[in-house]
Amino acid sequence: MLSGGCLCKGYRFEIQGECTTMVDCHCSMCRKAHGSDYATFVGCSANEFQLICGQDLVGSFQSSENGARAFCTVCGSNLPMVGEQEVYIPAGLIDGDPGVRTSAHYFVGSKAPWVTIIDDAPQHEEYPAG
Ligand SMILES: [Zn+2]
Ligand SMILES: [Zn+2]
Repeated sequence: MLSGGCLCKGYRFEIQGECTTMVDCHCSMCRKAHGSDYATFVGCSANEFQLICGQDLVGSFQSSENGARAFCTVCGSNLPMVGEQEVYIPAGLIDGDPGVRTSAHYFVGSKAPWVTIIDDAPQHEEYPAG
């Protein structure tokens, strides 16, 4: 079983099953929000994601018409995007090895100019269709 949480440890979660995917998102919003070259997310099934503590610490920023970003209101860590089917977790929140590796790059059309992708994972100009 995997666990993880934010920097201040106020928000903690567990994943009962396996992480299903790991994706690097190179969009400009992820870059700003994470303050890094790109954002890496691991995905898991929503019914295997269990919040242990910290729901009251979750802040939200409406970053686009159809997207909001969650963050810890104490330490500022990016928090998982919890959907009905799947949860996308900023990979850096995971303690230990999630067991998956980058399987796709999203939004390489807006990639930071200083970033060179060195793995063989498929690259999508924007969000992949389907
Ligand atoms: Zn925190
Ligand atoms: Zn992004």
